[in-house]
Amino acid sequence: MKLNRVGFVGWRGMVGSVLLQRMIEEDDFSLIEQPVFYTTSQTGQPGPDIGREIQPLQEAFDLESLASLDVIVTCQGGDYTAEAHAKLRQQGWNGYWIDAASSLRMSADSTIILDPVNMPVIEQGLANGQKDFIGGNCTVSLMVMALDGLLNSDLGNADLVEWISVATYQAISGGGARQMRELVEQMGVVNRAASDLVKNPASSILDIDKAVIDAIRSDQLPTGEIGVPLAGNLLPWIDKDLDSGSSREEWKGAVETNKILGREAKPIPIESTCIRVGTMRCHSQSFTIKLKKDLPLDEIEQILEQGNDWVTLVENTREASLAKLTPASVSGTLTIPVGRVRKLNLGARYISAFTVGDQLLWGAAEPLRRMLRILDHSSL
Ligand code: NAP
Repeated sequence: MKLNRVGFVGWRGMVGSVLLQRMIEEDDFSLIEQPVFYTTSQTGQPGPDIGREIQPLQEAFDLESLASLDVIVTCQGGDYTAEAHAKLRQQGWNGYWIDAASSLRMSADSTIILDPVNMPVIEQGLANGQKDFIGGNCTVSLMVMALDGLLNSDLGNADLVEWISVATYQAISGGGARQMRELVEQMGVVNRAASDLVKNPASSILDIDKAVIDAIRSDQLPTGEIGVPLAGNLLPWIDKDLDSGSSREEWKGAVETNKILGREAKPIPIESTCIRVGTMRCHSQSFTIKLKKDLPLDEIEQILEQGNDWVTLVENTREASLAKLTPASVSGTLTIPVGRVRKLNLGARYISAFTVGDQLLWGAAEPLRRMLRILDHSSL
């Protein structure tokens, strides 16, 4: 289809900012006849600089204006989706809705988009007349990108994996821009509490340790956004408590993965423990995988490496792992390194793997911008 009028809601938030940055880098706006930018708080003000003239910001709940669009791309959040999407569909709007929020992900009428992995599922959705195309949970999308080779039916490997157990180490960006700022402030408070002692070579390490833990536990540490200390700490719970012993984030790991793969009827069992750590925008994940076959290690590595164009295999050595398999090295890139691949002593069919990915790119913005290209039949 021709991308005539495409609306952008939530473009100034964290995911939206990365989306705009990527669309400018990839010249995606040249595919759109008329991009229209919306806001819930700044109606009438100038829109973003996308290198061409655009209208001032439109009101994000103006249903008449929204209904004039062919496609709506939103990174505004679940509350906005719940209200605007429902009203537009009720009044018969039949355009494409591309969304970063989780609200519509598990709806029977939606497709979760991650085209390097599930292009056939997306094409099937389009052929079935589906109009809601939703980005996956960041951790799930990064896991599926990393394990694509083992999971992906395109490569004829659909039945290689018996189950996956994953421990995640998730960055604070998953909690939004304000939580990122607060983590940096927390780091500053901790540093200031111990810096004089650290600078003094004669000081005791126990005094330094005490100054740090006292700062972490003190009222001086800002916790208004995250709710608890994260600097010098980790949080073994992300998202809502489902009263089943699992968090909502952990529940997403299984249901979203199988929906992305189009395997709802024959799901791969996946168990997650999701943990927040004090990194900025890269999620890391440690997998234990039981395979259905005893494959040689080099074959497993080859299958992983062939998964998609963004996966890179990191040699399972200390040097390569510390150089290439860390948030510090991956942040800001589209690369999905997979390393620490080895056979486990648990048995011949058990392997481990570790991955790191920038959750604002493949975990959030990238699948959305690529969906616009899929609608337009442009090259990806
Ligand atoms: P966000 O940064 O909180 O931005 C959402 C909206 O907040 C903005 O579009 C903006 O709307 C408003 N806002 C108010 N004050 C702002 C300020 N100072 N700077 C920028 N925006 C401000 O939300 P987000 O983290 O991008 O998440 C958006 C959606 O994507 C959520 O549904 C989230 O669950 C989903 N998602 C997030 C991630 C992630 O890593 N964070 C990953 C995948 C999916 P107005 O212009 O209308 O005021």
